[in-house]
Amino acid sequence: MRRTLVRHTFVQPLLPFAISGGKFTLYQSIILYRKFKADNIFTGRHLLPAGQVLVTSAEGKIKEIIPDADAGDDVEIYQGILCPGFINCHCHIELSHLHGQIAEHTGLVSFVQQVMSKRHATPEHKQQSMLQAQNELWQSGTMAIADICNTADSVTLKQQSNLYWHNFMEVAGFDDAGALNRFTNATNLQNEFIHAGLLAYITPHAPYSVGKKLFDLINNATAKQLISIHNQETRDENNLYKNKTGDFLSLYKNAGIDISSFSPTGLTSLQSYAPYFTQQQGLLLVHNSFTNQSDISFLAHTSNLSNYHFCICINANLFIENTLPPIEILIDNNCHIVLGTDSLASNHCLNMFEEIKTIQKHYPGIALEKILQWATLNGAQTLGIQDKFGSFDTGLQPGILHINHQANAVTRII
Ligand SMILES: [Zn+2]
Repeated sequence: MRRTLVRHTFVQPLLPFAISGGKFTLYQSIILYRKFKADNIFTGRHLLPAGQVLVTSAEGKIKEIIPDADAGDDVEIYQGILCPGFINCHCHIELSHLHGQIAEHTGLVSFVQQVMSKRHATPEHKQQSMLQAQNELWQSGTMAIADICNTADSVTLKQQSNLYWHNFMEVAGFDDAGALNRFTNATNLQNEFIHAGLLAYITPHAPYSVGKKLFDLINNATAKQLISIHNQETRDENNLYKNKTGDFLSLYKNAGIDISSFSPTGLTSLQSYAPYFTQQQGLLLVHNSFTNQSDISFLAHTSNLSNYHFCICINANLFIENTLPPIEILIDNNCHIVLGTDSLASNHCLNMFEEIKTIQKHYPGIALEKILQWATLNGAQTLGIQDKFGSFDTGLQPGILHINHQANAVTRII
């Protein structure tokens, strides 16, 4: 029965395409189905063995995966792997004009200072850089993206974009006296995005840049929402919270920020701030370079570990601090892992497959099937869009990528 369906509805009888002088002069087949075959199909969960064919509608909506023998003719054949489109869980598209402008391996404190001093540019340069970055994201297979926003610079781009954008309005302020003002500015930015028809959620920047009062304001405004936060990107973040030492003290001093009211907790940053969120939020923890087993155990004992999503941005970690994230610890604890590129200020490109390749290079024992799930289905689950993207489940339109082993590259088919 299935065989009959696929064979006989792939191409309808020839239909008129154009009429000239009252006569049909050109005809075109109306394609109802497309069929794809490769060495392997990655479904979002599993790497299927050879001999399977992915059947979609003409525009790429998933119909089913069937045995090769049932697929009939007109199968498009690829060498390598077919994979759903990627979900990039951490980016800052508005920093795209900083591509190639920031020195590598300087450490986080210097990186932050460089970004702050160099982020100004003409509006035209910013728009052109963001457009170029967005095109790179699309061509390299990203379908959906969680994007950090400090300004409305990216609104017009996103209104016209093919990508799905989950926008985080980032707020920072360590000094309690300025907290309400900072929070109000973020909600104004959020309203600007919402009025433009875009998704927008308030989110804190990082534990070293958000004080207790600002954390409380964010907590009250984000019940049951997903929050993104740069987490334990540098050892000094833990030192700040544990005993009020490290490079951040000089950063505050140079910036004129008064931290006299800040008291160290004796705990790591994550163990200090995670309990601030009491409204059933999900936490998308980004970077996690200095997250350790005691941190994971703390989260598991004090709340539900499934509320936490651990975003790996390995190329940015290597770029900024020349460190590697503790992926084995996250795997050993069954943490929900997702991937992101971070921005072009701290990465050479926004290609998710380059993140996958770097993880494979430094962690050769991790199966590709597992890493691909982080890059697809897990990301979609974190952003709550698994009914649209992230897998080849029937009815989804997740994009179809071709991973070419020989070229060690990815290209978008649909
Ligand atoms: Zn970031």
